[in-house]
Amino acid sequence: MFGGSAERGKLLSSDNSRKLVSALEEAYRGAKYYLDFSTSVDLLAAAILSAQTRDEVVNAITPLLFKKFRTAKDYAGSNLDELLKYVNRVSFAGNKANNIIAAFKIIDDKYNGRVPDKKDQLVELPGIGEKTANTILINAYGIVIGIPVDTWVIKLSYRMGLSLNKDPDKIEQDLMGKVDRRYWHNFAYVLKAHGKKICGTVPACSKCTVNKICPRNGVTRSV
Ligand code: SF4
Repeated sequence: MFGGSAERGKLLSSDNSRKLVSALEEAYRGAKYYLDFSTSVDLLAAAILSAQTRDEVVNAITPLLFKKFRTAKDYAGSNLDELLKYVNRVSFAGNKANNIIAAFKIIDDKYNGRVPDKKDQLVELPGIGEKTANTILINAYGIVIGIPVDTWVIKLSYRMGLSLNKDPDKIEQDLMGKVDRRYWHNFAYVLKAHGKKICGTVPACSKCTVNKICPRNGVTRSV
């Protein structure tokens, strides 16, 4: 944990942050967004479904979903029972389905069926927070104005000394000050790839490409 002052952890210097980020970007060059989609409409639906649900589960159900629901109007004209037939394998399926329908009703009414490309408009949609708004801007529109902060980013940013905060908005601000802007678009996916491969529940520090720099904040056991 990183709440107590005695366990605040160590922050990396700017120089070491730059080295660590470069080394990770080099090691995970192919890292990219993990949900399948073709259109901004697909992406918004998949992103809402993905909260607290494994990517594999979302990617397994979306081909049929995307085939049935192609436009904002398709979702807006649906209802809970119909949508649940396609998404009931995800956690909190009812809430997410309601959010998807409500979000696309707004998009259909207010934005002429087009998923907005402005962050302040996205975060007003049901089921869309800062992280998902950043994700949609980056992956649907190539607009990079922030770094999506998910659970992997929260966990690894602390371990690596890139941020000692636990509030996602503050973590994003810390990262935006330390990660070169050219890496903002994929930094969350690089951290996720590293977390899944090396820096998981029991980090494999002995095999880690950044083990000479990383302060290993909060790590009590590693291999
Ligand atoms: S595996 Fe260990 S050294 Fe590597 S980033 Fe994680 S905590 Fe740091």
